[in-house]
Amino acid sequence: MNYVVVDRGDRLSKELTERFHVLAAANGLQRNDDLPEMVISIGGDGTLLQAFHTYVDRITDVAFIGVHTGHLGFFADWKADELEELVRMMAESDPRIVRYPLAQIELDTEEGLSTRLALNEFTVKGVDNTLVAQININDQLFEMFRGDGIVVSTPSGSTAYNKSVGGAIIHPSIESLQLAEIASINNRVYRTLGSSVVLPQHHHCDIISRKDQRLQLTFDHLNITRSDIRSIRCSVAGFKVSFARYRPFPFWNRVREAFIGYDVK
Ligand code: NAP
Ligand code: MN
Repeated sequence: MNYVVVDRGDRLSKELTERFHVLAAANGLQRNDDLPEMVISIGGDGTLLQAFHTYVDRITDVAFIGVHTGHLGFFADWKADELEELVRMMAESDPRIVRYPLAQIELDTEEGLSTRLALNEFTVKGVDNTLVAQININDQLFEMFRGDGIVVSTPSGSTAYNKSVGGAIIHPSIESLQLAEIASINNRVYRTLGSSVVLPQHHHCDIISRKDQRLQLTFDHLNITRSDIRSIRCSVAGFKVSFARYRPFPFWNRVREAFIGYDVK
């Protein structure tokens, strides 16, 4: 099995990476930075986002595994002191592959179309002023948005930024995208829905820039500023990201452990 390790770059993650390579060599796993089948992320959920974007061009050929160096993560469920067990399981057993939906974002600009993927979410905000954007769902006008921004999240990203803006948590088996508002302006003149909406896999929405405005776009942890965006089409991507599971850790258990804690009194 070919593998690569992506780490957060801090001392502990770098040490763990070295240790992983030693254990992997002893167990017959091959390090291959260009054509890995397994991508091991060592750090946090943010590190897994980096790993995802590093290998996004091979997304249908790789599976991800997350090791966390701090708190339990949504993508990082192995602990630092479990590396030996992880490597042994990688060498000896076949994992269950779980597949999570991705967001596909198509930018329509004067230079043409370009497409990007997000594992957590895509966001759009105004750089200089309030964002003004028309939102169409399935090519029909839905609303005119004025406010700080819009979060378009995947189910696995629903526990991240989406949750902070009041969006619902969606199980990753539900192929969908959630649109959530960031501080929309609502008064007698301007009106938005106010609650978040969940689109099924066969729907799409367009965010149409209604004036010349600089937009800040984020794709997970990556962000860019553009002033030439005409519209942005958001839909569920036609392929998924794979995670290798050597032991079960149900999504709702992750949610409980991340947000509620272990003790229920
Ligand atoms: P960061 O600012 O270090 O991350 C923010 C937090 O989100 C970290 O605690 C991170 O966990 C956690 N996180 C990442 N993906 C998650 C997921 N799917 N479910 C639950 N928590 C998750 O930046 P980063 O590490 O590069 O992560 C980028 C992400 O930060 C973005 O995709 C966005 O979701 C999130 N973000 C949130 C807000 C907000 O809530 N107001 C604002 C901006 C960005 P780790 O510590 O394990 O990395
Ligand atoms: Mn982080």
